[in-house]
Amino acid sequence: MTKIMEQIMARDPGEREFHQAVAEVLETVQPVLDRNPEYRQAAILERIIEPERVIQFRVPWMDDQGQVHVNRGFRVEMNSALGPYKGGLRFHPSVTLSIMKFLAFEQVFKNALTTLPLGGGKGGADFNPKGRSDNEIMRFCQSFMAELFRHIGPNTDVPAGDIGVGAREIGFLFGMYKRLRNEFTGVLTGKSLNWGGSLIRPEATGYGNVYFVAAMLAERQESLAGKTCLVSGSGNVAQFTVEKILHLGGRVVTLSDSSGFIYDEEGIDAAKLAFVKELKNIQRGRILEYAARYPAAVYTEADGSLDHNPLWDHKADCALPCATENEINGRDAQNLINNGVRLVSEGANMPCTPEAIDLFLDNNILYAPGKAANAGGVAVSGLEMAQNSMRLNWPREEVDSRLQGIMKSIHRTCLEAAAAHGRPGNYLAGANIAGFLKVVNAMLDQGLV
Ligand code: NDP
Repeated sequence: MTKIMEQIMARDPGEREFHQAVAEVLETVQPVLDRNPEYRQAAILERIIEPERVIQFRVPWMDDQGQVHVNRGFRVEMNSALGPYKGGLRFHPSVTLSIMKFLAFEQVFKNALTTLPLGGGKGGADFNPKGRSDNEIMRFCQSFMAELFRHIGPNTDVPAGDIGVGAREIGFLFGMYKRLRNEFTGVLTGKSLNWGGSLIRPEATGYGNVYFVAAMLAERQESLAGKTCLVSGSGNVAQFTVEKILHLGGRVVTLSDSSGFIYDEEGIDAAKLAFVKELKNIQRGRILEYAARYPAAVYTEADGSLDHNPLWDHKADCALPCATENEINGRDAQNLINNGVRLVSEGANMPCTPEAIDLFLDNNILYAPGKAANAGGVAVSGLEMAQNSMRLNWPREEVDSRLQGIMKSIHRTCLEAAAAHGRPGNYLAGANIAGFLKVVNAMLDQGLV
């Protein structure tokens, strides 16, 4: 393991997030390697950490003032042992090859857990959509797809949304793909309902996250009813995480964006959530405006000079980070524990640092890793692909019930894999081991490719 980590650090220096994601998986799959010497012989670790293909490209585009900009686009096609590459596109100024590779690596194991035939990939660009007009967003998406289209396809690689890529961007990307290929196919998921999308896809990651939480609590004869939750972010995952917590009788008191967070002691109810959806999805405003609309809420501006995020320093039962990577550090984790939080479930990808995770595990906090807890999004993307292939649409209840079934199955799989490898109750070890076994066995079946 140490040798492999040294190797990737030497080969891919500076890819901090990728190193973090790989180290987390390698640490937990040791018992599997001890039991299966044939994996070592087949150099399975060396193969699984190396992307099958990395595509990097120039994305030139013109703003509304006629100024030319050049961004960098990526698609990391990480592993196709289980099916076509599948994973979202992220448009955010922080996007680098390291972020793409960490997300693609996580995606491989997450997709394996869904039980659907999906490989893993991720892509995006270091483009900042904030403050851009619809026309600028369209021109950017068209330029991005003008290169990406030659690498993807409904049986090859099927991207979806992620940070900064929602229904609007998927529409522009799909339109350009269709024009270039002269094909109407399910090459992207997260499409609008009236042209190939699936019911429940927008809700899927957030709802799935809360179904996973409900399953963890049910294991201890508990439920979300009456529990107070801290949620971060205010985008797609956060919105539908809050919605499902409310359906199940829980209470949510926080939401955030990159500028700051709100704390609403009275709780964010359905009407307030509707305001947030309108604010974020239509007006594209800031969470600060929540406090102006609901004066009982307190707004705190983000302060990069602090060594912790005060959002995580409130009394609560559960924490569901739904914004971005490494948003809960060791200090935040200690604050959560001191404030009575007993459950942490990752709606975002890798939102907890290794120090935070260690603290949760050492303090017997119920901790759900993102690759299990937020797998509902890609699961319903897989269901969208199935519906596209059949040229049929399933009703809302059917997709929702399949999503619930998948989340329960992931929950069970994690517990069983953890118990079978001497780590009972450890969802992190369970998710990594179960996902790893499925992928590496398929890789071995398919020979040295
Ligand atoms: P959105 O773009 O819809 O929302 C992202 C939210 O997180 C916004 O509130 C945004 O604030 C905030 N945010 C983003 N970057 C930062 C940052 N660096 N610091 C603080 N806040 C930040 O994205 P999603 O809701 O789709 O994604 C959220 C997380 O969930 C990501 O980690 C994503 O990878 C993960 N995820 C998403 C899935 C999906 O189906 N969409 C599936 C599985 C995981 P602001 O507007 O100010 O940038």
